Parts: sequence; C-alpha cells; structure tokens
Amino acid sequence: MPRLAVLGHPVAHSRSPAMQSAALAELGLGEEWSYEAIDVAPDAFEARVREMAGEGFAGTNVTVPHKEAALALADELSQTAREIGAANTLSFEAGAIRADNTDAAGLLGALPVSPAGRRALVLGAGGAARAVVWGLLREGAAVAVWNRTELRSRDLCTELGGEPVAAPIQTDYDLIVNSTAVGLAGEDPFSELPLAADGFTAEQTVVDMVYGGEQTKLLSAAETAGAEVVDGLEILVQQGARSLEIWTARPAPLDTMRIAARG
Ligand code: NAP
Repeated sequence: MPRLAVLGHPVAHSRSPAMQSAALAELGLGEEWSYEAIDVAPDAFEARVREMAGEGFAGTNVTVPHKEAALALADELSQTAREIGAANTLSFEAGAIRADNTDAAGLLGALPVSPAGRRALVLGAGGAARAVVWGLLREGAAVAVWNRTELRSRDLCTELGGEPVAAPIQTDYDLIVNSTAVGLAGEDPFSELPLAADGFTAEQTVVDMVYGGEQTKLLSAAETAGAEVVDGLEILVQQGARSLEIWTARPAPLDTMRIAARG
C-alpha cells in the first residue's frame, strides 16, 4: 500500500487530499494507494519526513512553510528544484529522498497563452514567486517583480533574473501574477498591492495563486474588465497532476482532479 501525503502547517484547508484521492481512484489505484494531510510544525518537519521513508510512503507534497526545508534535507534534487530553491514534491526511492518542484510547471500549464515574448508583472518574492519568475523567464517572458519588501524582490532578481520594479504601471503588462499571500485572509488586494480595481484591460491575462472558496477580489475585478483570468485552484490542479505523475508514472486525470479540487 504506497502512501502519499501533503505536509504543511496549517494544512487542514488543503484541497490536495480530495483531489489526489479522486485521481488515484480514477487511475484504478484507489485500493492500493492512499493520500492524507499531515500537519507538522517547522521544528518537527525534518524528523517527520525521515520517518515517512520507513512508513510505506512513496512521496509527499510539501506546502507552506516547508518548501525550503524540503529542499535542504533531500539527497537528490531535480534541476528545477535546485534552481528555484524550493521543493513542493518529495519522493522516497530506495532509501533516498528526491526533491522536485512542480509549481513552475503548474503555473505554465494553467496559462491560456504562451508567455514567450510577453511582458509579465509578478507580485511577491516568496517561494511561489520564485517558481513563477523562474518558469516565466524560462519560457521567454520579460519579467518585472514587485514585492512589499523591496530588498527581497531585488535579491530574487539578482539570483533568478527579471527586473525589480518599485511602482509598476498596471497597463504596461500582458500578464499579471499575484504570488503574494494577499487575499488569503480576505485582505483587500487593491490596498495591499500596486494595482487598481479599475486598472485592468481586456487584453491582459491575470493570475491569482491564492485560492479559497470564492473567486478572489483581484480576479473579479480583472474579469469585469474583460481580462482572461486563471485562479489558484487551476494551478493547484496542474502542479498536483505533475506530482502524481512523478510518483505513479501514470498520466494524471486532470478533469477528475479539477472537479474534486473545486468540490
Ligand atoms: P511566502 O513565501 O510566505 O511569501 C509570501 C509573499 O506574500 C511575500 O512576497 C510577502 O511579502 C507577500 N505578502 C504577504 N502579506 C502581504 C501584504 N499584506 N501585502 C503585500 N505583500 C504581502 O508564501 P508563498 O509560498 O510564496 O505563497 C504565496 C501564496 O501563494 C500563498 O497564498 C499560497 O497559498 C499561494 N500558493 C498557491 C499555489 C497553488 O497551487 N495555487 C502554489 C504555491 C503557493 P514580504 O516579502 O514583504 O513579506
């Protein structure tokens, strides 16, 4: 019985167990494989991961706040995880722990248009923003990065590329990605971020990594302006699909995962 999990703190809100369990059932693996949520505090994270290797786990997703710690404890790193500097997927293979990052591929998979040659504004400089900036640059976008704490966006761009921007002009960008945590606790994005609710255009694609029960205020405003919008649940589905493929070596059933994630 291979076991799978998501490790986070907190993690009770995660849609990953419902989504991955539905996917395993659809693949005919529901009787053999299982997927659970495990809440683990940062100071217990490494010990818990090392125990999992001996408890029948084939792999685990890793979410806030453990993505950097997951990278640090792994024996092997994918090139993507190493370059982004964070891991959201661990696999236990023959006594070794391998780290991957599927967040960048998840974002790229969720975009309705290729970012090649487009001007992108990324908001944030945490783990999610690092994956977004890395992925967009790799696909040939011109990337500007704004962050509340400017030093962090400057450091991120020095390390990964892109241009830090202190006061972005909203209409200058084809693609705007909110990879801050703003909106998660119901904050008003238009008071916390350098965006105006009436400042979007119909030509833009607007992505919000934050997800909850309802459409975020950011995406509602973008949709009202006629922009194409991508929500955090679609990115969750896309990154989760790639994690599942790493563990099972089977194509992930995206539609089933979408329905379960939105359940
Ligand atoms: P993180 O490393 O803790 O970074 C948080 C970011 O949010 C930082 O840039 C921080 O800015 C910014 N921020 C927090 N509060 C803010 C405020 N009031 N005003 C302006 N900026 C603020 O978190 P993370 O791992 O990057 O995750 C960020 C968000 O993406 C979370 O909501 C997470 O759930 C979501 N996410 C979604 C997916 C998905 O699959 N949909 C995947 C990954 C992450 P400072 O540097 O100034 O503190």
